[in-house]
Amino acid sequence: MLPIKDQFVLPEGMIYLDGNSLGPLPAAAAQRIAATVQDQWGQHLITGWNKDGWMHQPAVLGNRLAPLIGAAKDTVMLGDTLSIKVFQAVSAALSLKPDRSVVLSDSGNFPTDLYMANGLIEHLKQGHVLRVVDPINMIDSIDESVAVVLLTHVDYRTGRMHDMARITQAAHEAGAIMVWDLAHSAGAVVVELDACQCEFAVGCTYKYLNAGPGAPAFIYIRPDIVESINPILSGWLGHDAPFAFEAEYRPGHGVERLRVGTPPVIQMAALESALELWQHLSIHDVRQRSIELSELFIALVEQRCPMLTLASPRRSEERGSQVSFAFDHGYAVIQALISHGVVGDFRQPNLMRFGFTPLYLDEQDVRSAVDKLDTILSQSLWDREEFRAMKAVT
Ligand SMILES: *Cc1c(COP(=O)(O)O)cnc(C)c1O
Repeated sequence: MLPIKDQFVLPEGMIYLDGNSLGPLPAAAAQRIAATVQDQWGQHLITGWNKDGWMHQPAVLGNRLAPLIGAAKDTVMLGDTLSIKVFQAVSAALSLKPDRSVVLSDSGNFPTDLYMANGLIEHLKQGHVLRVVDPINMIDSIDESVAVVLLTHVDYRTGRMHDMARITQAAHEAGAIMVWDLAHSAGAVVVELDACQCEFAVGCTYKYLNAGPGAPAFIYIRPDIVESINPILSGWLGHDAPFAFEAEYRPGHGVERLRVGTPPVIQMAALESALELWQHLSIHDVRQRSIELSELFIALVEQRCPMLTLASPRRSEERGSQVSFAFDHGYAVIQALISHGVVGDFRQPNLMRFGFTPLYLDEQDVRSAVDKLDTILSQSLWDREEFRAMKAVT
């Protein structure tokens, strides 16, 4: 079954190891987007909201995405960006714990999650604090002062993966609310939201779900608490009756209340098409294959490129779908690799990141990528001015 390379548009000769940042274009998505623009927007104009089901897309696609993250029907809503969804989840979580003041996170979290939590805290002016600890000390840091544990499941730099079930349980034992960020998990690793019983989860769809740059984010709320949430971002499309245009806000039914404003219809079309690829795939198979490819990569790199140091956990159970190696000249090496057709990326201070997505990668790709990496390192091909100059987006 895997890979399904022919379902993606990939430039000839490119080995793409950056699906953890931006997934490639599914071939069917290009056509779906064109049809949405020309046939729907072009021909139906405003009637598209009814005729083409645009208004229901965020919920319909939430239900398509749900099985991939172990969530039940009507618990997932698409929309906005992940930063916004973090804000929504943390604010709702804090409102469930009015007597507690700590938002607990770890130093491996993606900066926007921490920025948004801090921005919210400053805005609320209710004496909350953001406590950031080393990820290794997470369980021990959860005490009864903690209102919300806000964690990213898979570390964007190292690929280190938290034990979702165990940490959620520890949060609940201390009476805290659990918010998981699945940015590097959805479509990459097995996630069982309903089973782990976390209250909230958020994530994006442009990484391992391949819905394109700017694709909508998602938010999950555990169904037994959704009706008690009063959304802080009380936009009209989260209202119970948006087209009644009432003077007062009343939250909509269930997870509908986490909608804010007009959905990005064209990007939703890309997402719909990207999610269709998963109808014939099992996340368990994808995960298994990704472990095999990652292990092959680690073994070959360690054998042939001894100047690089593995920065990801060695045990696959503790690692997501990406592998990072540390090297002082990592940025220049990645630029040189890109110029040789192998696309990875770089994260400060010295991490070279490689994502292994078995949808469009196979063993031969992994071997060729290591061949090129070996050549670039052993011949110091990276040591050139053009590769050292930092670009705006790394
Ligand atoms: C990629 C990523 C984001 C990006 O947020 P946007 O609002 O979509 O730009 C946020 N959090 C984590 C953990 C990420 O990996």
